Amino acid sequence: MNYLADSTDIPGVTFHTPCDTQNSNGDGLPAADVAWFSIWIDGAYGEAPCKIKTASDSTVCDQFFGKINSSSINATANPHNQFIKTVCHELGHTAGLAHYNPLIDPFPEVPGAPGQPHDCQASGDVTLIVAKYNPPASWIWTYNQHHIDHINSWW
Ligand SMILES: [Zn+2]
Repeated sequence: MNYLADSTDIPGVTFHTPCDTQNSNGDGLPAADVAWFSIWIDGAYGEAPCKIKTASDSTVCDQFFGKINSSSINATANPHNQFIKTVCHELGHTAGLAHYNPLIDPFPEVPGAPGQPHDCQASGDVTLIVAKYNPPASWIWTYNQHHIDHINSWW
């Protein structure tokens, strides 16, 4: 899985309707791995909680909810870019990535490893991050190589 923007065939994995938010334990039908919602969240642009853990292994998430706080994002200085970055960020969480905070002062957290470019796993307001680091525009919709390597090793 190198490019999440492209369709990716994962051998042996059947894709399911994104409308099915019931775990298979609930209705007997396979559910989507990530179900997306536009919903208010106190103090955050988005979040990706595990909704249901697998029946066979409680340490593995069977279904995430990708929650996007449209009201809060629309109030930012750059809602278009904030939406893109937030969706990319929450999708990264569902694939197992942690986030980092480049806006902490005086010791900002690094993007996964020293020397890695900023990517959408950065937490915070895109306008503030651009003002502080001015990363290439693609940072809001991409993962850096460190994060890509994690995803590829896990999946
Ligand atoms: Zn996060």
